[in-house]
Amino acid sequence: MSPYHALMPLPKAELHLHIEGTLEPELAFELAARNGVALRYPDTEALRQAYRFADLQSFLNLYYELMAVLRTERDFEDLANAYLARAAAQGVRHAEIFFDPQAHIARGVSMGTVVEGLWRALEKSRQNHGVSTRLILCFLRDESADSALTTLEAARPHLDRITGIGLDSAEAGHPPAKFREVYRAAADLGLHRVAHAGEEGPPAYITEALDVLGVERIDHGLRCAEDPALVERLVRDRVPLTLCPLSNVRLRAVDSLADHPLPALLDAGLMCTVNSDDPAYFGGYAGDNFDAVRDTLGLGEDRLRELARNSFLASFLEDDEELRAAYLAEVEAYVFP
Ligand SMILES: [Zn+2]
Repeated sequence: MSPYHALMPLPKAELHLHIEGTLEPELAFELAARNGVALRYPDTEALRQAYRFADLQSFLNLYYELMAVLRTERDFEDLANAYLARAAAQGVRHAEIFFDPQAHIARGVSMGTVVEGLWRALEKSRQNHGVSTRLILCFLRDESADSALTTLEAARPHLDRITGIGLDSAEAGHPPAKFREVYRAAADLGLHRVAHAGEEGPPAYITEALDVLGVERIDHGLRCAEDPALVERLVRDRVPLTLCPLSNVRLRAVDSLADHPLPALLDAGLMCTVNSDDPAYFGGYAGDNFDAVRDTLGLGEDRLRELARNSFLASFLEDDEELRAAYLAEVEAYVFP
């Protein structure tokens, strides 16, 4: 059997996935036509060519530009269904999905349109795709702390749909502590808390996210490797890292996949998971990321099974431990090809 795509069926949870980052060129054009939005690109191939970036900021520029095609509940429903179908085909059994409401509200699309649109796909996801889901509202860290508070307030009528909060977008110069207040408010509302930290920002941002924001998982976090005391703490406290190898290569957080610290982080005893981040832009979905780390980093079956097991252990399934146990049993029963 060809090694390519070998790990698609390995059962896994995806814990670091921005739904806006699953917008494939074909769907972008379909939604643009439906909504009468003009795109700067003549066709899908030209747009696909534009999905090449020098760094995080150049990616974010296109990411925000293309959101213009998302206008109605149906658009968000279609976006989520397209992701869930692709994820299911790559072995994803559970997905904790990030969304960026501020980017939509800023262009006149309401919180209700975004959340209820996504929910239309998510509430039927187990029956339609065999994937259980959770929804995580992310704040844009390059926006103000006040804007984050207003956004949480706008989400209040929809909190029965939302499991937790996160923090994303341009990291450098926007330390976690800026969002102390909104994280405290979210904790009071009983929401789970995660944050991007240590992707382009320094290891100190990881420490700050833990100490000041009280986060339960670190999104990315690969730069923890620069601080041995921090690694020791993350190992001791079993803090999960949601790593995104193909994203790190595309956004130049690492020089090449062969240089990715994943094997070293696993050897150090860290609770690592592998995820796709913005798969339409970064060259692959969850299974593609698993295949890539296996082929390029030489991870053996024990390590790959550990990554899959970690993804369910680190997921916010504490309200359905029976389901988590069933997923974990699937991981242990999985026979590698
Ligand atoms: Zn991310």
